[in-house]
Amino acid sequence: MKIKISWRKLPIIFSNKTLVLNGNICSGICKDDQLEINTTYPIEQQRETLLHEVIHALDHIYGFDFSEDQVKGLSNALFETLKENKRVKDFIF
Ligand SMILES: [Zn+2]
Repeated sequence: MKIKISWRKLPIIFSNKTLVLNGNICSGICKDDQLEINTTYPIEQQRETLLHEVIHALDHIYGFDFSEDQVKGLSNALFETLKENKRVKDFIF
């Protein structure tokens, strides 16, 4: 699977390998050239993690300069809102 953000196309790698960032085990990582999602977590968490990493990618590409807390807050709020409002999500997309 790939995601297109602006002019970039980034592969999304789903694997069961342990992901470590700054010494911490994490469920996903946004790298310069790909997003990685750990598949050992429950599917709902993988989905939220993917949204979280997409927001990191948007931050990098568009230069928003979000903090980690802002990315967490935005991904959690967007995930819950879109999940609870599927008709709105379908209308938007
Ligand atoms: Zn993050």
